[in-house]
Amino acid sequence: MSSVVPGCEPAVGRVLSEGVHWLGGCLSANAEGQEVHYHVSSYLVMGSEATVLVDTGDPAHRETVLAQLDHALAGRTLDFVFPTHPEIPHAGNLPVLLSRYPSAVVVGNVRDYFLHFPEHAHRLRSMLAGDSLDLGGRTFHFLPAYIRDLENTLWGYDSGAGVMFVSDGFSFIHDVPVSAEDDEPVHLPGQCRLLSSEMPAPPSVEQAAYGTGRALYWTKFVDVGVAFQGIEDTLEAFSVNFIGPAHGNVIDDVEGMLKTSLAAHRKVYEGRPL
Ligand SMILES: [Zn+2]
Ligand SMILES: [Zn+2]
Repeated sequence: MSSVVPGCEPAVGRVLSEGVHWLGGCLSANAEGQEVHYHVSSYLVMGSEATVLVDTGDPAHRETVLAQLDHALAGRTLDFVFPTHPEIPHAGNLPVLLSRYPSAVVVGNVRDYFLHFPEHAHRLRSMLAGDSLDLGGRTFHFLPAYIRDLENTLWGYDSGAGVMFVSDGFSFIHDVPVSAEDDEPVHLPGQCRLLSSEMPAPPSVEQAAYGTGRALYWTKFVDVGVAFQGIEDTLEAFSVNFIGPAHGNVIDDVEGMLKTSLAAHRKVYEGRPL
């Protein structure tokens, strides 16, 4: 059972880089007697012409996200909302956002959203992997989600700051006492807005691949080498300075930690017996 963490709902998000704000809050849970947190994050990307919000945040954090947006937008409006997939922590604040920002358009693989939000059917614009939005001075690219739990999940990339948004991918656990059965990527109170390089100890390779392994239940059925190759190709093709997951601390040590752990785990998966 988790609950909202009041202290983790700052009215101001963290500026990751010029024009990119890390927003959202944490849910709180108890892990073997110790309080731990679980991120539900959103990201605002601001170009000179247009703005896009990546994931809406959880309805439990509705007021927080709205306050953070007010602050970050500083009088501008929200032009696009990009829920990476139609699940509550990623799309649950869509109605309130569309009401607050009447000219905002929902972008992404929105093929079934009219079923959830029939009153907003005219505000849905399909954007698939390979499509992009010119935000003015920076481009937002829609990428395939190599790690995903729903078929219409998409990842994103901001060319301005080199941020890759990975939804449920790459949610690392850190050095906290979680039981083996607990499969949520959690952090300790006070670590909510830290970058991976600012955490007391960087995640081990096992922890770094934790979220990856957890989401990869489908590796029983498909060749996971394809997914790993896709991720590695994307990291090569785009200049990635930050990786922004919905449920983990932002990763800033992409080269040192992520590429290495990806390569290590790719070997493990590919080498496993059939
Ligand atoms: Zn999620
Ligand atoms: Zn937290």
